[in-house]
Amino acid sequence: MNRILVTGGAGFLGSHLCDRLIKDGHDVLCLDNFFTGSKQNIAHLIGKPNFELMRHDVTYPLSVEVDQIFNLACPASPIHYQLDPVQTTKTSVHGAINMLDLALRLKARVFQASTSEVYGDPEQHPQQESYWGRVNPIGPRSCYDEGKRCAETLYFDYHRQYNLDIKVVRIFNTYGPRMHPNDGRVVSNFIVQALKGEDITMYGTGSQTRSFCYVDDLIEGFVRMMATEKGVTGPINLGNPGEFTMLELAEKIIQLTGSKSKLVFMPLPTDDPKQRQPDITLAKENLGWQPKVNLEDGLKETIAYFKKLLAV
Ligand code: NAD
Ligand code: UDP
Repeated sequence: MNRILVTGGAGFLGSHLCDRLIKDGHDVLCLDNFFTGSKQNIAHLIGKPNFELMRHDVTYPLSVEVDQIFNLACPASPIHYQLDPVQTTKTSVHGAINMLDLALRLKARVFQASTSEVYGDPEQHPQQESYWGRVNPIGPRSCYDEGKRCAETLYFDYHRQYNLDIKVVRIFNTYGPRMHPNDGRVVSNFIVQALKGEDITMYGTGSQTRSFCYVDDLIEGFVRMMATEKGVTGPINLGNPGEFTMLELAEKIIQLTGSKSKLVFMPLPTDDPKQRQPDITLAKENLGWQPKVNLEDGLKETIAYFKKLLAV
């Protein structure tokens, strides 16, 4: 049993991670400033003897006693991270420094939730970890992309300089229950629109691609990465290599919800990557991990969640 800090623990991924760690018998300290997360996501854990909730902003230093740290705090959807871009960069960069300093003092293992956005709008397809990326440093997505890139730099410098035990994963688009209904990400947007019978907002032509990983698969990858021996630092891609156009995604969601919603085409956001697909060779080799849930099954679970949430 470990004492484990999960920053961003009341968010979409963080709350699923807390569930898993509690189930595995660990003592979990869930930390969040509730910018995009909600108490609702972890309400079922409150009152359990091995679960604690703490309101804190990772941009400020923290002093707690734990054995391991999962650093997930950071808004992940473009709408949310662009609301206060300065705070987004601070969350990634100051948040990383604060968690790394904490890990250093505690001699704790520390895990960083990085992102496929470090590859930007990639020229390499599928993306391997050795690819350095193509990121605009001054665009509206840069607060997130460059913040996460700088966080990775900090992790590897703390590792090289102080021999800190780091684990860095690059997460590709992940979906599932507890996504925020208004966070603007494509899976939640399309499902909510389909269930409400509203127009489905297709940005651009819908020919851009993404690869969608179901949340349970991703969390399994997190746990396996954290359990690797000290030399395994990453970065390691975690995602589902199944690649779909946004048109294909919309069609699937319309079919699974039985919706009569129609597509409306809207302008493509600035710097929107054209394609994204993880190369997960490293995850297979190092973690013995690969996703198990196909898009249709994952969407069914997610649709059931939103149906209940929206009571439609
Ligand atoms: P989310 O927005 O649901 O969760 C982020 C959590 O961090 C929220 O609970 C939020 O309140 C909290 N938070 C934000 N700023 C904070 C701060 N300064 N101090 C403390 N807490 C703060 O997003 P998510 O999808 O669960 O993403 C979790 C992590 O995974 C993020 O770091 C994100 O960048 C990364 N990630 C997610 C995806 C994905 O597809 N979901 C893809 C790539 C990377
Ligand atoms: N997208 C869309 N309609 C929406 C929301 C998103 O067509 O209502 C597109 C978006 O332009 C992008 C893709 O879906 O090409 C994935 O967007 P998301 O914000 O979910 O993830 P990211 O762009 O960060 O990978």
